[in-house]
Amino acid sequence: MSGVNEIRSTFLDYFAKHGHEAVPSSPLVPRNDPTLMFTNAGMVQFKNVFTGVEKRPYQRAVTAQKCVRAGGKHNDLDNVGYTARHHTFFEMLGNFSFGDYFKPLAIELAWNLVTKEFGLSPEKLLVTVYADDDDAATLWRKIAGFSDDRIIRIGTSDNFWQMGDTGPCGPCSEIFIDQGPELWGGPPGSPEEDGDRFLEFWNLVFMQYEQIEPGNRVGLPRPSIDTGMGLERMAAILQGVKSNYDTDLFRSLIDAVAHQVGRAPEGRETASYRVIADHLRASSFLVADGVLPSNEGRGYVLRRIMRRAMRHAQLLGARDPMMVRLVPTLVREMGQAYPELVRAESLIAETLRLEETRFRRTLERGLSILDAETRDLSEGESLSGETAFTLYDTYGFPLDLTQDALKSRGITVDTDGFSAAMERQRAAARAAWSGSGEAATETLWYGLRERTGATEFLGYDTEGAEAVV
Ligand code: ATP
Ligand code: MG
Ligand code: MG
Ligand code: MG
Repeated sequence: MSGVNEIRSTFLDYFAKHGHEAVPSSPLVPRNDPTLMFTNAGMVQFKNVFTGVEKRPYQRAVTAQKCVRAGGKHNDLDNVGYTARHHTFFEMLGNFSFGDYFKPLAIELAWNLVTKEFGLSPEKLLVTVYADDDDAATLWRKIAGFSDDRIIRIGTSDNFWQMGDTGPCGPCSEIFIDQGPELWGGPPGSPEEDGDRFLEFWNLVFMQYEQIEPGNRVGLPRPSIDTGMGLERMAAILQGVKSNYDTDLFRSLIDAVAHQVGRAPEGRETASYRVIADHLRASSFLVADGVLPSNEGRGYVLRRIMRRAMRHAQLLGARDPMMVRLVPTLVREMGQAYPELVRAESLIAETLRLEETRFRRTLERGLSILDAETRDLSEGESLSGETAFTLYDTYGFPLDLTQDALKSRGITVDTDGFSAAMERQRAAARAAWSGSGEAATETLWYGLRERTGATEFLGYDTEGAEAVV
């Protein structure tokens, strides 16, 4: 059986052997892009290399990149615990060509890695290409020997990648595995594509155009390659399990949770174990990269992730801080590949302990209020925005925590009512301060708050600025 650590090195070694420079993961907080909340793909650290602004001493690179998709355009937070394939934090394995090789070698390298090194059965695999990308279709036919029904043409933006409204762009080709008819789901492009049967594990992006302005696209003189494979998904495939959460790494983390809780995951509670394991990774890696819980920006996303995990720990009956006790297992599992975890271990532990201790005071009260307020609600109904706001304002419940808590019962939150309650409170605060003699500072402060949208961080407006792969 290949463990996660072994799969990561197989990928890195394979591309190194084929002339790729092994480049370390960049931090989760992007250095070169203030509009992007978190690094969400392998190509992020190479954006300027692709556009030609920055030169590197190599034209091929390979990375295992730490990614977080819990905010902005790519937000998988609500998927965690519900799908078998999504995490907030995950590792994206990628190979890159900066104007060096293009489609033929990219497809050949990918095909050989997947079928020879990883040994996947070719007959279980299928691919998508962009609707008009005849080159890619021809190459898949030739290199993989696929018949046309295994090369699915997709005309949506899912198969066309753009760095932004302008700049490099091009078609993608994604590799899927058919995990068997005992799982529900249909091939990409079909109405059942969200099922688990057909699993996407690798996306190859062919950067071959430059968008000059809307409607004006020219061919790049030296096209580039950008790919992303989810390490956790490949681990699930190679270990013969149908969920990322059943792989070696996640089993260790979930065992550690079970040890704290005193019983193994079963039935409906399983989701809580998974959420805790996932959020432990995201929280720890974010702290290691310098993010601390706060009420705005990146820090608020971290706080939301931590508090969601804490609610699930509470659901499992944890009385004392639990997250902090899981840190040693995570460091043991991932510290060798990511030494920053080892270096930051005590900071991570302290941060979790503090946040858990603080939140515990209000979590229990908040949950009982939530219980009382929703007791008479049934599926399809919604919790009043006023109550959601009280939970937010007085008990520290981020809006998405309340929504997540009610999701399994099919109850929603009146978000308009929530915003209205928030606005009323702001207006009241403003009125209470008028004439205090500090008008100038106040105006500045409320002006700022108005512009930045109060303390709840609802995501950067990053249309177009984020990466797909
Ligand atoms: P999906 O359609 O399953 O949400 P995606 O198309 O959004 O995936 P890409 O942006 O193409 O994903 O990212 C490249 C690869 O990274 C994916 O093929 C997948 O293997 C992996 N990946 C993407 N999002 C996640 C996630 N939230 N958790 C784990 N792996 C992920
Ligand atoms: Mg996605
Ligand atoms: Mg996809
Ligand atoms: Mg994809």
